[in-house]
Amino acid sequence: MNKITPQPGIMDITLYQGGAAHVNGVENVVKLSSNENPLGPCDKAIEAFRRAAYDLHRYPSSDHAPLRAAIGAVLGLDPERIICGAGSDEIIAFLCQAYAGPDTEVVHTEHGFGMYRINALAAGATPVEVAERERVTDVDALLAACTEKTRLVFMANPNNPTGTMIGAAEVARLAAGLPEQALLVLDGAYAEYVEGYDGGAALVDARDNVIMTRTFSKIYGLGGLRVGWGYGPQHVLDVLNRVRGPFNVSQAALNAAEAAIRDTAYVDHCRTENARWRGWMADALAEIGVPSDVSCTNFVLARFASADEAEACNEHLKSQGLLVRPVSSYNLPNCLRITVGDESSCRRVVHAVRQFKDGGADGSDI
Ligand SMILES: *Cc1c(COP(=O)(O)O)cnc(C)c1O
Repeated sequence: MNKITPQPGIMDITLYQGGAAHVNGVENVVKLSSNENPLGPCDKAIEAFRRAAYDLHRYPSSDHAPLRAAIGAVLGLDPERIICGAGSDEIIAFLCQAYAGPDTEVVHTEHGFGMYRINALAAGATPVEVAERERVTDVDALLAACTEKTRLVFMANPNNPTGTMIGAAEVARLAAGLPEQALLVLDGAYAEYVEGYDGGAALVDARDNVIMTRTFSKIYGLGGLRVGWGYGPQHVLDVLNRVRGPFNVSQAALNAAEAAIRDTAYVDHCRTENARWRGWMADALAEIGVPSDVSCTNFVLARFASADEAEACNEHLKSQGLLVRPVSSYNLPNCLRITVGDESSCRRVVHAVRQFKDGGADGSDI
């Protein structure tokens, strides 16, 4: 028998399922399964990426100073307390590697991002899933779930895949009530979609037990480049920077991200367009009997009468070249997560769901 075995916890990891990108035999596919920006990156980011091609033989900056300075300048944050990663996924991994381990617990919300559990298990820690209230983060339940073993508490606000968010006072109450050895991780992957929201930065500044993670993969349209960042207290940054590899983000990615964050007009435009078509799509779906919670993100979590209906509708959407995200792996089997696309994609989604509904509730007539 093979004696080469991984560390405990590793084999409990279920592989992360990315959003589907192809359907056999269907052309003109619209990918609405990964919450990507349908408008793509801004022109300045594309130009910065192109220019970086001439320096591909050079190692990237290892301190990310220009990008951190740009983030700090645009968002009013202290660049010294920013860390950049290969996606915010990597910041999540650093946190688990540095703070979690065997005989510790990592708390996350019931319908929380799958990477929290994966990284907790990879570090040998025990993930602890905490129930929500009607698909909304429940601060009291999170506080009740904490023990002397809790090291990290992950919550996305707004949350994926529910699309809901809780208010600043509730988040502050959570931070204030945690056991003293626990660090609160506020995942702000969708923060830019909420007008006037700082993602929790003010709470980070006010406390020493809160870190915020952010990403260039969503509103900035740079998911393919893998750039994310974290903003936390100095003592946490001193820890994370020891774990981070010196060349963890490529120069092309750093340059494109810097151009993207400086282009605030483009971000405003994307936020406005998203809000417009998100509202239109959610209302139109509700009218044909597919309700959703008010979304604070760039997707709508459409609720069907049953898991069978959601699955049948997903098949119909697929046959029409519309790829959305089934979320049964997030324990939401009667839901489909639909990224807000451009106008024509949103219209196609509503048209196809209406077709499906007209064809019989279980889709059997289609
Ligand atoms: C998309 C997403 C991220 C971003 O991951 P990256 O590694 O930065 O691409 C992080 N958290 C949540 C909740 C997300 O939905």
